[in-house]
Amino acid sequence: MKSSRPPSLVILTGAGVSVESGIPQFRNRHGLWTHVDYRALATPEGFAHNPARVLDFYNERRRAMGRAHPNAAHHALARLEADFKGDFLLVTQNIDDLHEAAGSRKLVHMHGELASALCEACGGRCRWPRDMTVNSVCPACGATGRMRPDVVWFGEVPYHMDLIQARLASATLFVAIGTSGNVYPAAQFVNDARRAGARTIELNLEPSLSSDDFSEALYGPATELVPAFVDRLLAGD
Ligand code: NAD
Repeated sequence: MKSSRPPSLVILTGAGVSVESGIPQFRNRHGLWTHVDYRALATPEGFAHNPARVLDFYNERRRAMGRAHPNAAHHALARLEADFKGDFLLVTQNIDDLHEAAGSRKLVHMHGELASALCEACGGRCRWPRDMTVNSVCPACGATGRMRPDVVWFGEVPYHMDLIQARLASATLFVAIGTSGNVYPAAQFVNDARRAGARTIELNLEPSLSSDDFSEALYGPATELVPAFVDRLLAGD
């Protein structure tokens, strides 16, 4: 049954959309969190305990991002944003910048960005495309050694939640791409969209933990699934 409400699309992407660009996901049997303790690298406590180790970890991720290029899935989502008739919001859990590199503009990074720094002294944010060290200086307040990656760590509150919740509450279509359903609150978005009466679709390599919550699902690599899905959606399917 077609909705009589104006079209409003919310897309949620996760690490799976960037895997074919050479940026690995964290959670699978080869993933990072299976052999590295996330508490040491992705919590405020881990950063306080050993800031140099945490900064090095994110420096390496930032360099890897600099070597990566957007893939066919990122490009297809930028095309969808340009051609979709209705409200559009891309919510990414990714901290890489591959959606922007492909041309996406109506997007929010709910878990922050690798290319951004946050000053613990003044709360200021700034672009930070290079390595960060324990001697990095905040360009806003001049404090030394208080800069951290502007990413949301375990135990911290994701960004842009008011906007995301408002869009989910009026969504007519919700699509989750390359996300495992492991990370909250993102894993809950499908249920928020369903309550709003949205059609819900999962595109993933394999069924996610929340696959039963979706009304439709397609499984395969994002670079194949997403361009074909965007073609169908723009054709009115
Ligand atoms: P996840 O690692 O928990 O799950 C990734 C999902 O993608 C899995 O369900 C997997 O089956 C699927 N997948 C793998 N390869 C795929 C492909 N080629 N095509 C389609 N799907 C594929 O990722 P998540 O749910 O996004 O959560 C992980 C958290 O770690 C996020 O919060 C994110 O902040 C962070 N992270 C970010 C990046 C990045 O910025 N690229 C990379 C790793 C982790």
